[in-house]
Amino acid sequence: MRLPLTWLSLTVLTQRTVVIFGASGDLSSRLLLPGLGSLLAGPRATAVRIIGTGRSPLAADEWTDRVRTAFESQGEIGPVAAETLATTQYVAGNPTDPAHLRALLELAGPAPVLYFSLPPAVTTSIVETLQRIELPEGTELAFEKPFGTDAASAAALNKLVGSLVPEENVHRVDHFLGRTAVLNLIGLRFANRLFEPVWNAEHIESVEIVYDETLGLEGRAQYYDNAGALVDMIQSHLLLVLALLAMDAPATMDAVEVRSEMARALRSTHLYRGSAIEASRRARYTAGIANGRVVPPYAGEAGVDPARETETLAEVTVEVGTNRWAGVPFTLRSGKALGAARKEIVIKFKPLRHLPSGLHGGRDGETLRIGLNPGELSLSVPALGVDGPYTMGQVFLDATLPSSAVLPYGEVLNGILRGDPLLSVRGDVAERCWEILEPVIDAWHTDEVPLEEYEAGSDGPAEWQTPRESAA
Ligand code: NDP
Repeated sequence: MRLPLTWLSLTVLTQRTVVIFGASGDLSSRLLLPGLGSLLAGPRATAVRIIGTGRSPLAADEWTDRVRTAFESQGEIGPVAAETLATTQYVAGNPTDPAHLRALLELAGPAPVLYFSLPPAVTTSIVETLQRIELPEGTELAFEKPFGTDAASAAALNKLVGSLVPEENVHRVDHFLGRTAVLNLIGLRFANRLFEPVWNAEHIESVEIVYDETLGLEGRAQYYDNAGALVDMIQSHLLLVLALLAMDAPATMDAVEVRSEMARALRSTHLYRGSAIEASRRARYTAGIANGRVVPPYAGEAGVDPARETETLAEVTVEVGTNRWAGVPFTLRSGKALGAARKEIVIKFKPLRHLPSGLHGGRDGETLRIGLNPGELSLSVPALGVDGPYTMGQVFLDATLPSSAVLPYGEVLNGILRGDPLLSVRGDVAERCWEILEPVIDAWHTDEVPLEEYEAGSDGPAEWQTPRESAA
């Protein structure tokens, strides 16, 4: 068993250095540094040294100001964040240049974290260069999504990375795994007498995992037009949420145990009814008003190549082929420029087979809604008396999860800094998430599944309002 805190990591915790490649970029200033700031402001804060690097010639003050702004966005700067600010530095250089990499490693010292916040092709090229450079013992490597562009390229990248450091030192980042609501699936399921005994096909009719945004492209056409909703959200995030929902109980909360159970669930996952044509839908938005703003048609957005036919709304239904889940449709859906920001897991329980005669009204079973952002829980249960005595209706039990002050990126970084891969995506899982969706990607490329349209600000194409499996 791998201990999360070895003697080495205890020593390193006081002086761990994170080298951020692509430090001048959007991810670094918008998500990574604020995430780190939220971690450093809390009780689990430990001193960290940050070295930012990139080709941009940032002056020392300019870089420190960026880090300070990110930390301040998380509240008053405390002693640990102040120490981090005092030691941070920026080193300009081309990240693919071996001499620059050697100098960075020398500067970082023992057991550094190398965080690749770069376009994927640049990251791959650095990893290739690192083959020729000896890495310090205990080096941790952190990779942003997307990890590869299909199962074969993810496997090739895994092989390359595996020749540098052991798998437990590799962190494929999915910040969804750092969200309070997603982490809480473990507590909700495995420490809960009410839900775990009925968490199976015997009692559950269907599961939806939805991440609908009202936001459109927000200037990220260059990235998004190459990814689309399927890869941007379903491949890299929602399948991991599915793994936590569908897995069996891990023996312990150790990374090895939890990640094995997640991997086992995904190995059993395949398209519902086996066919991409039946199990997937895609659409893109036309002009409309979303989020209070006039939105141009996606095909007319700056930086979009309409010929790519990139979808802005994707839906895929899968089945987890285990004794626990066989026959239950899990529908994963995500899109942009929609009328409502619906970010939730919806678990529909089956109605009871029989009601005493004399009871009238709805036969619906319970529905559990788990908000992904914010973490709201709502359980609707059948009850009497809503529309008169002996008439069935639904009542709602609502709760809000205590929200962590640590941002999802802070939670993920906490694991990386401790050398604990619990919240990192394991190599085989990264490959498996591509494999599950490859038939869909192929069917979409060959137009076997038509690209539909929806007006920006609507709920999606009209015929999508009925779940597919119940319409069939
Ligand atoms: P950017 O496109 O902003 O690139 C980050 C930095 O990489 C740039 O500032 C640039 O720094 C450097 N860079 C760009 N091209 C090259 C090149 N050809 N050679 C060397 N360096 C280069 O990316 P983001 O910050 O948006 O994202 C970084 C990673 O995180 C990507 O893998 C992305 O997929 C992932 N990601 C991003 C999210 C986001 O919201 N931004 C969300 C989730 C994941 P310089 O010019 O200083 O060298």
